[in-house]
Amino acid sequence: MAVCRSCKALIHWQRTEHGTSHPCDPGVRWVATDGREPADGTKKIRIVTKSSGRLVVGAELSAQQASHLAASAAGFESHFATCPFADEHRKKG
Ligand SMILES: [Zn+2]
Repeated sequence: MAVCRSCKALIHWQRTEHGTSHPCDPGVRWVATDGREPADGTKKIRIVTKSSGRLVVGAELSAQQASHLAASAAGFESHFATCPFADEHRKKG
């Protein structure tokens, strides 16, 4: 496990489909890939999928919801979305 240089949070480097590594938050998250809007108490998140390293944006699901929905993906949420210093990351590239 690595640590974000900006906010010191634990991050997980997830390999993307392009062969690069993307800093992500360590916990596995699930999103709907059927284009639905987030339900109350949830949000739209950006993940890098575990299986193929694809960047997917969708309504966040619980693990239980995802298990009942074929159109879902499991992955790690992009740390760029949660890091309080995300603007710094973008400037550095
Ligand atoms: Zn950070």
